[in-house]
Amino acid sequence: MDESGTSEIPGNSSHFVLAGICIPIWRWRSADQSVSAVLERYGLAGQELHTAWILRAYLEQSRIRDFVHLSWDARRREVERLRNAYLLHLQKEQQNKTYRQIKKNFAHTRPYIHLTVDERRQLVRDVADRVSNWGYGRLFAECIDKIHFDPSRAGQSVDEQAFEQIVSRFEQYLVNTDEGGPQRNFGLLVHDNNETIARKHTNLMRRFQREGTLWTRIERIIETPLFVDSTLTSMVQIADLCSYALRRYLENGETDLFGRIFTRAHRIGNTVVGVRHFTGAGCGCEICLSHRAPP
Ligand SMILES: [Zn+2]
Repeated sequence: MDESGTSEIPGNSSHFVLAGICIPIWRWRSADQSVSAVLERYGLAGQELHTAWILRAYLEQSRIRDFVHLSWDARRREVERLRNAYLLHLQKEQQNKTYRQIKKNFAHTRPYIHLTVDERRQLVRDVADRVSNWGYGRLFAECIDKIHFDPSRAGQSVDEQAFEQIVSRFEQYLVNTDEGGPQRNFGLLVHDNNETIARKHTNLMRRFQREGTLWTRIERIIETPLFVDSTLTSMVQIADLCSYALRRYLENGETDLFGRIFTRAHRIGNTVVGVRHFTGAGCGCEICLSHRAPP
């Protein structure tokens, strides 16, 4: 699981999205390897797939003549040269706050600077295509339009509602996919590590396991969520890609990545039940439409 956008109201995004991609454990390894294979093709073996950083505009690239025709090594060298010069300039001007911010941004994007913006877009598309082919993968997400969220009516925060929804739907999925016989399905949540969220979700999960959620008892999700370093766990990076794609679709109408990953939304018949857009009545987005489709 991973989230996109801020859960604060109003915050700097209109939507908060919490998304989880469900992978059966016996498929985990091959899913992981299929993502690594794409990264390797783009010279990113062992690197993190961080969608938002990959898709940013890298200004330096547009300032380098004939950037597209340079080798990967030359591209790296030229971008680093411009970046170092810019950092030196900021230091000289004693713009310490900007300096620290820019230095951090540069560190986040450094692995990808040898790729043009088109190549970076294609990289994320290629990964999303792999995900869309995971017939066993199920996407769960709660996408909250904060303009339509009333915390006092909901009796909980944006973040709590999102988590409770995902937990409830995942539990129901585990129950409904039992194949009969004595064998039961069990699941485990793996979440990108973040100290504030870790404490909150751990406490919520303990309560759900004791008292159930508003919607269901929790018997199939074992343990409190495991919090991992996303740089080391590519399945969490896939959740990051999914939450990013959902939010960009709802906020900016970007369909490219959304169309690829939405094929994995958990459905019963034709009705999407795993992904919900929490918003005002009459929304005509693809999530809302497929949520209402008859099964
Ligand atoms: Zn909608």
